[in-house]
Amino acid sequence: MIGFWVRIVMHLGGIGLIAWVFGLIGGARNGWITAVLLLSGWVVYQLYYLQKTMGWLEHFQLDQVPHMSGTWELLAAKIYRLAKSGEHQRQQLAEALKDFRSATEAMPDGVVTLDEDNQVIYANEQAEEQLGISNENDAGRNLINIVRHPDFVAYLNGTEWDKAITLKGVRSSNRVLQIQLIPYGTRQRLLMTRDVTQLDRLETTRRDFVANVSHELKTPLTVLSGFLETLRDLPLSEDQRQQYLGLMHGQARRMQNIVEDLLVLSKLESTSAPSQEDEIDMRVVMPRLLADAKGMSRDQHQIEASQVSDVKVMGAEDELVSAFSNLVSNAIRYTPVGGKITLEWSINPKGCGVFSVRDTGPGIESQHLPRLTERFYRVDRSRSRETGGTGLGLAIVKHITTRHQAQLVIDSEVGKGSCFSIVFPEKRLKPQS
Ligand code: ADP
Repeated sequence: MIGFWVRIVMHLGGIGLIAWVFGLIGGARNGWITAVLLLSGWVVYQLYYLQKTMGWLEHFQLDQVPHMSGTWELLAAKIYRLAKSGEHQRQQLAEALKDFRSATEAMPDGVVTLDEDNQVIYANEQAEEQLGISNENDAGRNLINIVRHPDFVAYLNGTEWDKAITLKGVRSSNRVLQIQLIPYGTRQRLLMTRDVTQLDRLETTRRDFVANVSHELKTPLTVLSGFLETLRDLPLSEDQRQQYLGLMHGQARRMQNIVEDLLVLSKLESTSAPSQEDEIDMRVVMPRLLADAKGMSRDQHQIEASQVSDVKVMGAEDELVSAFSNLVSNAIRYTPVGGKITLEWSINPKGCGVFSVRDTGPGIESQHLPRLTERFYRVDRSRSRETGGTGLGLAIVKHITTRHQAQLVIDSEVGKGSCFSIVFPEKRLKPQS
């Protein structure tokens, strides 16, 4: 393609040559007139295309390139190429921004980008939900005016951002958020937020559990060491010695029961599925439970099995028998002498297998029911201790039922009695072949 200056030189040279020829033919005056006319025409031609180019640029549309000629065609082609590559870059940037936003939206954590004055540039959905920011209304607003928690404001205004802080009650009183500010680029800041409510709850449960275990073991240990000191320091008769040794044995058994139940719980917690899959014949298990119950009660209660379906249940026999026994043992321990205890294995109208233990004991007030399966939760603390309870029995039962996709259902009425049932889904049942 012929270059810009070459074209100008060619145009002006052409005009000069024509004017010179006219000058030779018609005299110098005609030559000059021709030169002026041709130059004026050339200028008008240039102005026309200049105006056309300006008009195009004013309402620029890439796909509407005006028809040009000569140098102006060159210029239009250049503008077109530049605009096209600009458009391409813009599209690439838009794509990159879209990718960045989709990536941050996919993150389980909240992300807020801020400028150096803590003004919100962008917040992903999680941050919108966790901090109550609205991308639409809060862009450009100072984050301190949106999240007014005093500890959060102090953290943002401070400089110790290398550590995350944990805040409770930013939007709702129960929620716990972990927040960290990370400076990046020249002056921007990235605020990361993570919902740690569940973790916090687990940590609290763990702390409570350790405190409870220590407390449960400390009491019998203190009693034991008291008796030991008495035995060592005081001159006792043989009868007194025997009596103290009996009491010490009782405390040692209590600790042993707690440790054994804790080991059972920890074993159950380490896997989520039953340890084996047996076909349990309830027509064999129920008489065994009944005999054990009568032995435990020492004939002080009226105990019977009212219904025993011949449908088998599938699961780990040792686990399920231990859960059934726990419920039977509780009924005997909490039902006063002379009370009635009824065991049942039946199929309910929905086709589920129901193992239940009904007693005519003291019953349980409704506010305690949701907490009964918590470790060490007891309604009647002294009765539990007197009867050798560890406070872990129902926690174990709950674990075992959950592992078998079954449900522990507790019905109780104060003064009338309780009914503890384990409800097995149909898929865990097997009709007698
Ligand atoms: P514990 O070893 O104390 O019996 P459990 O976890 O087996 O612990 O039971 C938790 C609490 O539930 C008991 O301390 C008792 O207060 C209450 N409870 C359980 N079974 C019965 C029942 N059949 N009748 C009345 N209260 C019961």
